[in-house]
Amino acid sequence: MEKFRLKILRGTPGKQYWETFELQLRPGLNIIAALMEIRRSPVNTKGEKVAPVVWEDGCLEEVCGSCSMLVNGRPRQACSALIRDQIALTSNHEITLAPFTKFPLIRDLMVDRTSMFESLKKVQGWIETDGTFDAGPGPKISPKKQEVMYELATCMTCGCCLEACPQVNAHSKFMGAAPISQVRLFNAHPTGAMQRKERLRSMMGEEGINHCGNAQNCQKVCPKEIKLLDSIAAIGRDVTLEAFRELFSFPDRDI
Ligand code: SF4
Ligand code: SF4
Repeated sequence: MEKFRLKILRGTPGKQYWETFELQLRPGLNIIAALMEIRRSPVNTKGEKVAPVVWEDGCLEEVCGSCSMLVNGRPRQACSALIRDQIALTSNHEITLAPFTKFPLIRDLMVDRTSMFESLKKVQGWIETDGTFDAGPGPKISPKKQEVMYELATCMTCGCCLEACPQVNAHSKFMGAAPISQVRLFNAHPTGAMQRKERLRSMMGEEGINHCGNAQNCQKVCPKEIKLLDSIAAIGRDVTLEAFRELFSFPDRDI
């Protein structure tokens, strides 16, 4: 039976090491299923029984983003990464798995993505509501706008775009592309637009849009194929206009 190896960067902060496991290839096997096999029998290629590998997962259908990691060096979800496809990218039947580098490491393949959720709080990534009573139909949104908003709403806060972004690093406070895209989403909503100014202001500081270097890696790795560069361009324009409006005290457009 055909075999393959998973070479995993394991350990805790400052104490990381590579460990390899050999497994049998089965049709349809994905990375998470392979990690589960290792968990059942955590014996490495040296024949040593070791601690089971630690990782995070949730939905197992590329919706929650929690199993994101570097698979053969590329940020993506482990649940949708088929072993057969990943082997095809290698010359030695060895797939490397490593934790994301832009988030604090917890252990093995598990990182703490809290910073992304904190960024969503900073940009007010939500729609304010008065209550749960029926307020009747809201303002209509054109089908074309709905289509764009739907795509933006598929963001699962996975962190792939931050992992690939050179501007997101230990020396920078830049939030990355995902929160910028969420500003575009919630500003486009008729009710969400009531916090438009606050969201744009949150984009003006050292965490905001001016620190995007336009390297464009973010869009290339987004598993939901969100047009992040369109979001960056749209919010960049809105932030500039808002800054001028505030500088010269232009009134808001009424109609
Ligand atoms: S365009 Fe480049 S710098 Fe800007 S968010 Fe995307 S990857 Fe980062
Ligand atoms: S924008 Fe794409 S890559 Fe970035 S967090 Fe959302 S789904 Fe992940």
